[in-house]
This record gives sequence, C-alpha cells and structure tokens, in this order.
Amino acid sequence: MATPSELRFATLAVHAGQRPDPATGAIMTPIYQTSTYAQEAIGVHKGYEYARVSNPTRTALEANVAALEGGKYGAAFASGLAAIEAIVKLLSAGDHVVCGNNVYGGTDRLFRHVLSRLGLEFTFVDTRDLRALENSIRKTTRLVFVETPTNPVMHITDIRAAAEITREVRARLVVDNTFATPYFQRPLELGADAVVHSSTKYLNGHSDVVGGIVVTNDDETVEGLRFLQKSGGAVPGPMDCFLILRGTKTLHIRMEAHDRNGRRIAEWLAGDRRVKAVQYPGLPSHTQHELARRQMRGFGGMIAIEVGSRDRAEAVCSRTKIFTLAESLGGVESLISHPATMTHAAVPKETRDALGITDGLVRLSVGIEHVDDLIADLDQALG
Ligand SMILES: *Cc1c(COP(=O)(O)O)cnc(C)c1O
Repeated sequence: MATPSELRFATLAVHAGQRPDPATGAIMTPIYQTSTYAQEAIGVHKGYEYARVSNPTRTALEANVAALEGGKYGAAFASGLAAIEAIVKLLSAGDHVVCGNNVYGGTDRLFRHVLSRLGLEFTFVDTRDLRALENSIRKTTRLVFVETPTNPVMHITDIRAAAEITREVRARLVVDNTFATPYFQRPLELGADAVVHSSTKYLNGHSDVVGGIVVTNDDETVEGLRFLQKSGGAVPGPMDCFLILRGTKTLHIRMEAHDRNGRRIAEWLAGDRRVKAVQYPGLPSHTQHELARRQMRGFGGMIAIEVGSRDRAEAVCSRTKIFTLAESLGGVESLISHPATMTHAAVPKETRDALGITDGLVRLSVGIEHVDDLIADLDQALG
C-alpha cells in the first residue's frame, strides 16, 4: 500500500482524512452533531473536549483538504471570509499587509473597512507586476495576500516569483486558490506559505454550503489558526463539514468537466462578434496565457466577457435560461452574474474601471451540464 504522500489526487479526494467510524464501521464519516464530549475522568478524554475547539467531522474535512493541497494541516472556518480573516488575525496592530488589487469583493471590504480600523495597514497593488509588489513591501510587511486567477477579470500572479519576494522579507505568502482548486494549481508546491479557499465554491461544488479553509505546512501558522478557532469560534458546523467532504470526493471529476466546458465555451465566445472580449486564462489571447500554463494544470470554468454596455449586460443576464442569474460560483449548475452591481458593488467605481470591471462585464461560472446546451443558451441570450 502506498503511503498517503504517494497516493494520487483522485484517491486522496475519496479517502484522505477518513476511515470507517471506529464505533460502528459507518463508511461515511458521521455528522458528529454534538457540542461536548464525555470525559472518563478529569483531564482524561479521547482528544475531543468541546466542539468549538474540535469536532471529528471537521477533523476529517481538514485532513482531506490538506492532503489535496499537498499540505500537512488544514483549519476549517465558517466561511471563506472567516478563513481569510483568521489569516490576517495572525498579525498584530502596526503590521502591514500587501494585497492584490483585484481580489474577491468581500475580501476587499474586510481589509479596507474592518481590519484596517484595528490598526493593521493594507496596500493594494497589481501583483501581476512583480516590481510593483516588491516596491510595496515595507519593514513592517508580514503578509502578502494574492488571489490567482482573480475574480472576475482573471489576472494571474506568478506564485513562485511572489513567494521568493515574500520569503526574502520573512513575510507569509497566502494564496486564495478558490478559482483554480488544488486539482489545477498547487500554491504550496510553488512556495506559498498557506492556501485559503472559499469551500462554498468548487470544493463543495453543489451550492448548498458556506465554508472556508486554510491549508499550510507551517507548524506556527496552524497553531495560530487553531488558537483563533478556539478563541474566536468562527468554525463550521458538523453538517457543513460533512457536505463539503461529500463534495471533495468528486472534485477531480467535476473540475475535469468544468474545464472541458470552460475551454469549449471560451473558444466559442472568442469567435463571436457580439462579444467584445473574453477573459479566460486558457485562451492563447489571454495576456498571461503562458504563465497560466506554467503554474496551472487546467483553467476551470470561470469566464468573464465584455458585452459593451450596462444595457447589453442586463439583456444577456435576463435572457439566459440555463445559466441562472446569481452570485457565487463553482457549483455543478451554470451561473451568470454582473460583477459591477453584484459581487464587486462595494469596490469604488474608479477602482472597478481601472481593473476592467466595467458595466458591460458579465461573469460566467460554467457548470457541468452538456456543453452544447450551454452554448445554445448563450447564443440566444446574446440576441
Ligand atoms: C466567495 C469567495 C470568497 C469568500 O468566501 P465566502 O465563503 O463567501 O465567505 C473569497 N475568495 C474568493 C475567490 C471567492 O470567490
């Protein structure tokens, strides 16, 4: 039998972190719906004392996603933003964070409007530009936070190069790997100190849970995160952990399907005159296609298209029948959204324009339906 580190992704997806329940043999990790655990005597227990601190269903999920990212430890939180918040709460007042200038709108809001009030300092910079990243580093910089590819304009940051810059100043590099998932991109292997996910998206994949997780190889980082789980308590419930675990068992199969559909649809859109621009890292026309090919094994199902105006965007979003108008992404069903008024409404208009999040930008989360039906739907919606 191969050791866990030799097992392939598909095998880890199905098995890592799980074993038949020791009490009953149940093949699926039970939903340990309990707040506390009986102790045999004072201080004598089976490793679980109180469910804010730990829960066996959560332990299984943490070990499973850690294995998929090629990391030692996972720390699960109640949402992607709770996971990101925990990473920043490893710092102290006066510390400085460099953050990519095109991150998930909620991350931007958390940093600018919540954590910056608590004495942390943030600089937002285009991390595609490594010189700009280097120049934004200060003596007090402790964390560099990047999302790649970014939401929604699909900018790519060179993770290996960013890790070198970050290591030199003894800061942590944390990569939001929500869009690519560990199936297509492995930031820890490229030198990142930690990976964060909104497991709400592809990891769970069925649009029925909100969750987040951090994976790291670093003992000090995971100790800090466990202390925050215990001290802050933004932990996921056992039912949510169970559902995400059920989702990760098929991650590899789903990502292959998202990627296959994503590529076909991006190519079709790129050849359609009604669409002014297509942002998809898998297209040779993407300005960072070579970098994307170097650090990603596949490109997934996220595509942004420019249709020219707010009116056109509204028309397209209102006409699709299979693509549902909704926030979120990464589920088996296809979704369509308008970032400027939905996910990125909190980002100031000038910033949005500078980033290319125009009023005519439409974002697609391509699901795993039949690709010909999806293309036909977009064809009729483009009018
Ligand atoms: C959705 C999302 C988040 C936030 O996660 P929640 O689970 O909604 O809190 C963070 N980063 C990215 C890239 C996302 O898409």
